[in-house]
Amino acid sequence: APLLDVQELTRDYVSHTVFSSPHRHRALDSVSIRMEPASIFGLVGESGSGKSTLARIVAALDRPTSGKVMFDGDDLFALPARQLMRRRSAFQMVFQDPFGSLDPRQRIGRTVAEPLHALPAHLGRRQIEDRVAEVLESVGLSVDHTRRYPHEFSGGQRQRIAIARALVTEPKLVIADEPVSALDLSVQAQILNLIMDLRERRGVAFLFISHNLAAVDCIADTVGVMYGGRIVETGPADEVFRTP
Ligand code: ADP
Ligand code: ADP
Repeated sequence: APLLDVQELTRDYVSHTVFSSPHRHRALDSVSIRMEPASIFGLVGESGSGKSTLARIVAALDRPTSGKVMFDGDDLFALPARQLMRRRSAFQMVFQDPFGSLDPRQRIGRTVAEPLHALPAHLGRRQIEDRVAEVLESVGLSVDHTRRYPHEFSGGQRQRIAIARALVTEPKLVIADEPVSALDLSVQAQILNLIMDLRERRGVAFLFISHNLAAVDCIADTVGVMYGGRIVETGPADEVFRTP
């Protein structure tokens, strides 16, 4: 069974203005994508094509106007409110600017541990510390870093911390929205290698959103091209990027 099965997802934004009737804008138009466990799906498309809207709905941060998101056997938006809320807080996205998810006033150990508090299982202090140490090591950092603050790290290290935070609840999928776009080229390559390595070692699937076609070509198994709220092309990276 697929890990993620997005079925005919549509999202309308309605804007209200004082002088005219409400304007309806279709940000997603019948989008369907499928992802297998431990796969990397590259979502590309120009700015405004609907990539972030799709990502936010899969992360349960937003609701579709119509359509379905099947995740690991669950019909996401048919879950009871409490379970949906729990999933939303346990599931972390990785963004272009890791400062978006790293609280500058908080030690990174605490930031990385935060999503654990949304899990149904109540972990003890020791279990939480072990889990944080383990994910920090899996992204190339160490337990010695837990008492430091975000500003003490480089951009690439902060992105590693954001990835560790996303992994701490052991999700089967991580959504990364432009995770390398703000980084220097050599650091971009390190983060791409890390993502491929995490897929290999931990079996984590990634929904990788980027306007950087070279990055997507480098790591994605399957590519989906969005335009005007639709998926206009999808297939193996080789076909999408190299078929004339
Ligand atoms: P992308 O991530 O590909 O740049 P988005 O998903 O951010 O695209 O945007 C898709 C479309 O939906 C755009 O036309 C954008 O202006 C519109 N949109 C996005 N978020 C909102 C919102 N909160 N309210 C109204 N329109 C929005
Ligand atoms: P309750 O506390 O409401 O009786 P459970 O403790 O059995 O329910 O919660 C299990 C459900 O919560 C799962 O079926 C799942 O849908 C949801 N859930 C909890 N944690 C997560 C998570 N980290 N990721 C996804 N879903 C989660």
